[in-house]
Amino acid sequence: MRSRIVLLSLALAVTSGLAASDPSPLPGPAFPVPATPSALKADCDRHLATARRAVSRIERRPADAAWLAAYDDVSGLVEDLSSPVFLLSNVHPDKALREAAEACELKWQNFFSALNQNEKLYRAARKVRPRNAVDAELLKRTLESFEDSGVGLPRDKRARAKAISDRVNELSQAFDRNIRDANPQFAFTDAELRGVPESVWKSAPRDADGRVLLGLDYPVYVPLMQTAVVPATRERMWRAKTDEGGARNIQVLGEISSLRREYAGLFGFPSYADFVLRRRMARDPDQAHRFLEGVRVAVTDRERREIDELRDAKARDLGRPLAEVKLDRWDTAYYTERVKRERYSVDQEAFRPYFPPQQSIEFVMRVIEKSMGLRYTRVPGVKLWHPDVQAYVASDAKTGRALATLYVDPYPREGKYNHAAVWPIRSGAARAGRAPQAALVVNLDRKGLNLEEIETLLHEFGHAVHNNVSATRHVGGNSVLDDFVEAPSQMLEEWVYDPRVLATMREVCPACVPVPDALLAKAKVAERYGKGAQYARQQLFASYDLALYGRDHHEPLALWARMEGGTVLGHVPGTMFPAGFSHITASNYAAGYYGYLWSEVVAADLRTAFERDKFDSDVGRRYRDAVLARGGERPPSDLVQDFLGRPSSSNAFFEDLKR
Ligand SMILES: [Zn+2]
Repeated sequence: MRSRIVLLSLALAVTSGLAASDPSPLPGPAFPVPATPSALKADCDRHLATARRAVSRIERRPADAAWLAAYDDVSGLVEDLSSPVFLLSNVHPDKALREAAEACELKWQNFFSALNQNEKLYRAARKVRPRNAVDAELLKRTLESFEDSGVGLPRDKRARAKAISDRVNELSQAFDRNIRDANPQFAFTDAELRGVPESVWKSAPRDADGRVLLGLDYPVYVPLMQTAVVPATRERMWRAKTDEGGARNIQVLGEISSLRREYAGLFGFPSYADFVLRRRMARDPDQAHRFLEGVRVAVTDRERREIDELRDAKARDLGRPLAEVKLDRWDTAYYTERVKRERYSVDQEAFRPYFPPQQSIEFVMRVIEKSMGLRYTRVPGVKLWHPDVQAYVASDAKTGRALATLYVDPYPREGKYNHAAVWPIRSGAARAGRAPQAALVVNLDRKGLNLEEIETLLHEFGHAVHNNVSATRHVGGNSVLDDFVEAPSQMLEEWVYDPRVLATMREVCPACVPVPDALLAKAKVAERYGKGAQYARQQLFASYDLALYGRDHHEPLALWARMEGGTVLGHVPGTMFPAGFSHITASNYAAGYYGYLWSEVVAADLRTAFERDKFDSDVGRRYRDAVLARGGERPPSDLVQDFLGRPSSSNAFFEDLKR
């Protein structure tokens, strides 16, 4: 996924002296890391005051031809002042500092909701006459974000809209905190961990009885679910992961969905999904539902077939008649891996020796460089929020011109965001000579990566490069529609199965042993296996999200139990998956989870251009210029059409599902 911060469609200005004292060789201002929680609080209050002064200056400005650029400058200033805090709350090693950052986030979110409800600015924006298509698109988006914040509502409704957004922000934060800070540990005897590679648990801490203590981090959870022979071990971990966030989060989610329904009602919409989707590629919930139904029809048989095969594998494994064997949810990853090993003799663990973590980062960078005409150079000695964090400058391979900064935070640690995401800290803007900056936050296994993790890394680099090569005129031009934003990342995922792509590893690590062609070929076939179940799961998540934010009120857990209960594997009573499903509380994924599948349609279509040669520099450069560099300056379907030379089509996606 990508970052879940939304910094309105605003964003320049190196006017504040932020950059003036910058001693670093990286483009743009140095990343600010306050030394203590109280320093963070003081900075926060000072920055908010600066931002408020900038807003009151522009309030007094006439709505002339230069208004839009002046407003965009304020957006840039606000982005520079606020965005580091949204990253620090997720990555800083000190819990007290993370909490101070969260408190500051709430102040910024209140600032943003007040800004988007600023009547003076809204009235000025309505008077602006755009000079060209790029300005017109920015103006349209700017007016929409004002309107969606309720500035055009009668006074009482407007106050209610602000109160609701502030409350939803607080609740979403609490939801994430309940997951992030829970940090549960589970004790297992060595025997209970039979089958799990020792590298996953041998060096973990132990309790007084000598039992191994394991948490729910991905580098532990995923291999354990794939390899633990003892069903009770898998069941315990699966239940814990599924219930992450706990019952309090179900309550929080219920409150959020009711508040959002009420919010949409203030604007006369029957549901939050109706309110949100009118601004997206999908246009309305009916079209999103129709699309999801198409996916369901396309994958159902395949899912059923796969699950039958897994049941069969379980029956053979246990030496019991098929009719007596039921496949449990904590069996799927285990038997999927087993079938893959049996049938394709592929073991994901076998890939780790080929992909040491640091070289994997450099390898993925090299792939991006070769395809898109870039160069990433590490800049040593930059002091950031943790000693593990690395700084890179991205430059154009041909001209050598420095374009952007990329920070990489590679390894897991306590209290750190435990998925993979990119925070776009700073949006580029050609008009203001503004260099983009982003932070890529992942949790790599220090022992090396498997192929699926390399795929994730490619995905996240897709987001990073989207930020880094931005050449939009305005800061606000960077903001991309939520049902398109995953497409460039998804397009890259499959590249990992191309031997020519993998051979690039040798360019960054001559000493690394290359992945044998035969192993890769088998992995490529095996990768298709389990797709039916995966897509069916994504389809269920997306349908749940749309239903939760749909026209009828639902209690979140009852709705989930009913919908999951209708699937082949059914619902496990007592479990509460939605308690850990943080996407659907975040403003840009609520009523927007379908976007992951929707943008896969676009990704599959984009991929067709690279079919012949992923390192064709003409294609890569055209892609960089026509799609990535343009951000949200034009509607996504126009960008795709420019690049492909034809209107976008869902053929490649549905063909691929059938494969
Ligand atoms: Zn993503």
